[in-house]
Amino acid sequence: MNDIAMKQAVQAAVKPKFRGNQKLKSKVHTYYPESIEREYQRVTDAYMKLVKDVLKEYLPMIKDALMQEKGNVRKDDIRDLGLVVKDAFDAMHKQLEQKTESFGLRRKLEALAHLTRKLTIKEWKKVVKQTLGIDIMDDYYMGEFYREALNVWVEDNVNLIKTIPKDSLGRMKEIVQEGFKAGKTTNSIVKEIQRTYGIEKRHARLIARDQTAKLHGQLAKAQQTDAGVNEYTWSTSGDSRVRERHRELNGKRFRWDDPPVVDTKTGRRAHPGEDYQCRCVALPVFDIDTINVPIAKG
Ligand SMILES: [Zn+2]
Repeated sequence: MNDIAMKQAVQAAVKPKFRGNQKLKSKVHTYYPESIEREYQRVTDAYMKLVKDVLKEYLPMIKDALMQEKGNVRKDDIRDLGLVVKDAFDAMHKQLEQKTESFGLRRKLEALAHLTRKLTIKEWKKVVKQTLGIDIMDDYYMGEFYREALNVWVEDNVNLIKTIPKDSLGRMKEIVQEGFKAGKTTNSIVKEIQRTYGIEKRHARLIARDQTAKLHGQLAKAQQTDAGVNEYTWSTSGDSRVRERHRELNGKRFRWDDPPVVDTKTGRRAHPGEDYQCRCVALPVFDIDTINVPIAKG
């Protein structure tokens, strides 16, 4: 069957579901993939823990050096403490580098990308089955369909996450050096290190959420536009964390070639999942004239 004959066969097969209407909304409500976000956050948590592990090993040494310094009034020794700190952080950086190299960040991110792909295919097949009453060709999305998008996402995410532990350790070195110069107590320096670690860990988790949503949204867009879906209904996750503007968009219909304004101040436009940390999704609106789903044989 050629492409046109295939499209006509699909339209004939799904026509009864439209009941004479031009458009048909999805009968399945899909959601932001919380499970993948959690999986991604497990990865960033484990990756950040590498910083904690090296700190744990070297912090007592730095603490001792700081304590000794407090009891020492001779100014000449300040340089010695500086050396102790420098040596300790050099050794930590070396150790951290080994740990991050053997962590397998890229491999873990690839696994997350494939997990997201699997989940979106499962969701999409369910949407098509329950809304249109047809089965999608089984291996349609297995080959090249997502390859480029997944590769780009993995590459972007490796770059976003890769240097966080190293940068984090660099900031901790500054905290020790500046804290010491400013005459802060050892305790307050250690506390500041712990607080910084907490902030960096949360920062990595926010990237995980943002990027999970971006990939999920991007794959949904690819599936829908490929199937001749030009419109979608904006759907928020419906909880208290949904921002005001996205709540206004909820339930409204938009076109894939014309994203709505998500920031009224700047006029910035985005589809669901594209805005920073957006957990909204796009529910497809099928059109009998443009629909072109890869239908399973038989
Ligand atoms: Zn949103």
